[in-house]
Amino acid sequence: MKKIQMVDLKGQYEAIKETVNEYIAEVIDTTAFINGPQVQKFQSELESYLDVKHVIPCANGTDALQIAMMGLGLEQGDEVITADFTFAATVEVIALLKLTPVLVDVEPDTFNIDPEAIKKAITPKTKAIVPVHLFGQCANMDAIMEIAKEHNLYVIEDNAQGIGATYTFADGTKKKTGAIGHVAATSFFPSKNLGAYGDGGAIFTNDNDLAHTIRGIVNHGMYERYHHDVVGVNSRLDAMQAAVLRAKLPKLDAYNDARKAAAQKYNEAFSGVKNILTPYQYGDETSHVYHQYTLQITNGKRDALVKYLNEQGIPCGVYYPIPLHSQKAYKDDRYNEADFPVTNQLVKDVIALPMHTELNDEQIQFITDTVKKFVNS
Ligand SMILES: *Cc1c(COP(=O)(O)O)cnc(C)c1O
Repeated sequence: MKKIQMVDLKGQYEAIKETVNEYIAEVIDTTAFINGPQVQKFQSELESYLDVKHVIPCANGTDALQIAMMGLGLEQGDEVITADFTFAATVEVIALLKLTPVLVDVEPDTFNIDPEAIKKAITPKTKAIVPVHLFGQCANMDAIMEIAKEHNLYVIEDNAQGIGATYTFADGTKKKTGAIGHVAATSFFPSKNLGAYGDGGAIFTNDNDLAHTIRGIVNHGMYERYHHDVVGVNSRLDAMQAAVLRAKLPKLDAYNDARKAAAQKYNEAFSGVKNILTPYQYGDETSHVYHQYTLQITNGKRDALVKYLNEQGIPCGVYYPIPLHSQKAYKDDRYNEADFPVTNQLVKDVIALPMHTELNDEQIQFITDTVKKFVNS
């Protein structure tokens, strides 16, 4: 059996080697290392794919979140509501910008931000909500957009894990994640569903004025060469990374389909097995792109399982082991443990199994047999 990896970037590369190499060679031949045609082309190709007016490439997903918040003109003391159960990048940039992070609990089935918890957290200082499409599944955008509209709040989608997912609204309209809120951020970190061979990120918006503001912010606040109108940053997508991403973008739907197929096989193998909860999928098969395949182990054996799988040569991950509200950097007296029952439980139970575009049936069989045997032994 081929060695099991959490993410098999080498296997994926083998299948697209010629295109990747050709595009990278083009960057070197033309020495257009910064901006240049590969970056421009990738930007417009991604705009068409997502059906969004503006894609502004930048250096990584964390920058993308920060720049989105800077672009909206959020100010010190403004409150930004986000999920307690996610990667720290979101809360990190909120704090860096001297905004006030307000962490709220998630839903027990989807692991996504709980609209009821958002409602309870709104104060006169609240300015924005950051839903994260966690593990590749769309957050409840019907409810979130409605809350935002009612309270006049911005919605900043953290689409780092959800690229390629489609949200179906209650009225049947469909939109790609990242094209729903006022602005969105994504990451092209190598292991993401659309991953570069290094760092990369992008901001999306349908708002022309906001796009203009953001294009200046990513480039030192310049709208005219050497005229610095606002305080900006230096955050660029590398042309080499754009070349890799251009080679991969036409395959993104097929890659996501491969992930969904693997998730389906995992689901079937774990169906009805005691003490194992498979990930809940809200909506149809387009609503989840399985950035991660996350089980809940409900008999307290999660940590022992992690150890056992590692011994068996099966990599796995715990995303995330500590609630953000309990992290040293983000602790705050305003938080009350009773407000985070779901996150506090998930951090004890979740385990992510290998998930990538190259998983084969033999590997899935071995992984699921090993997990089942251990959990109920
Ligand atoms: C990966 C990730 C980020 C950060 O992206 P980087 O490119 O690593 O800076 C932000 N939010 C979420 C949910 C992520 O998974």
